[in-house]
Amino acid sequence: MIIVMQPGATKEQIQQVEEMLSSLGFKTHPIYGEVKTVIGAVGDRRLLNTQLITNMPGVEDIVPIMKPYKLASKELKPTKTTIQIDDITIGGQEIVIMAGPCAVENEQVFYETAHKVKEAGAKILRGGAYKPRTSPYSFQGLEEEGLKMLAIARKETGLKIVTEVVDTRDVELVAKYADIVQIGARNMQNFRLLQEAGASGRPILLKRGLSATIEEWLMAAEYIISSGNPNIILCERGIRTFETTTRNTIDISAIPVVKELSHLPIIVDPSHATGTWKYVDSLAKAAVAAGADGLLIEVHNDPARALCDGPQSLRPDKFTLLVEELKAVAAAINRRI
Ligand code: PEP
Ligand code: MN
Repeated sequence: MIIVMQPGATKEQIQQVEEMLSSLGFKTHPIYGEVKTVIGAVGDRRLLNTQLITNMPGVEDIVPIMKPYKLASKELKPTKTTIQIDDITIGGQEIVIMAGPCAVENEQVFYETAHKVKEAGAKILRGGAYKPRTSPYSFQGLEEEGLKMLAIARKETGLKIVTEVVDTRDVELVAKYADIVQIGARNMQNFRLLQEAGASGRPILLKRGLSATIEEWLMAAEYIISSGNPNIILCERGIRTFETTTRNTIDISAIPVVKELSHLPIIVDPSHATGTWKYVDSLAKAAVAAGADGLLIEVHNDPARALCDGPQSLRPDKFTLLVEELKAVAAAINRRI
């Protein structure tokens, strides 16, 4: 539920309400607005004597949150969440491009690709050091060696890095290197991983599960926010449908739907959504036109030799062209890249 404080309610009054709620077993999440402060309170409502709270000084109203996800909902926080990583803002006016190979594989290819995506206009470099592979015989990632290569690429290019964590045992190590910690589609409902990655304090890129509904996805985000970390970037990466010509089916409608239901920024990964580099261009443009706050695109210097997801990876020249074309799409909806 939401405790709406009166305009001009004092810090002490807000604190008293929070203390009262905590003593009743509620977790509180204050949101300080320009005019009013609201306090999100999550807990067992049956334990609450609402009259007790309503009568406290500075309290204007108590409003229930109807959705099962509370802290991720727009009911609690109508203003958009923006995530700041130094000079990069995710969820603002600018559409942020994240790009790089599926996996960090070898130094030369990785650093070359990193420089090229930077020149093309990407702000964040992707690359997995821990890969969730369908087959146990496939390349599983370079682990810490890969993280070190990501750190070197960050130093060389100035790009920030996003990389996936697949196991709670690696959260601390991955968070030490990453600017953004990615939770992959297969782990969207790995609740312990969500909580531990959230508790690392790094912004979290939360991919939609292969067959997750939007509500399940937002509930996964709720696990992270309730662990104390509100900095979540949702990522639509295609869902499983009866269609098999593409690797997954992109759910473009997820963009406006999520924007209506949640304050969290949403980006789109057209590479995993389609599985084929030829279609990445169209889906990237559609995602920007539909209001995505960013894109996550797989780019590889030599896709034919990639150890992971080569068929869906763009060569740097194609990626450069795509970013140029996306600028016009962004401008058409009053945004920029
Ligand atoms: C990835 O981004 O490398 C990845 C494994 O994606 P997903 O979790 O969406 O399949
Ligand atoms: Mn991949």
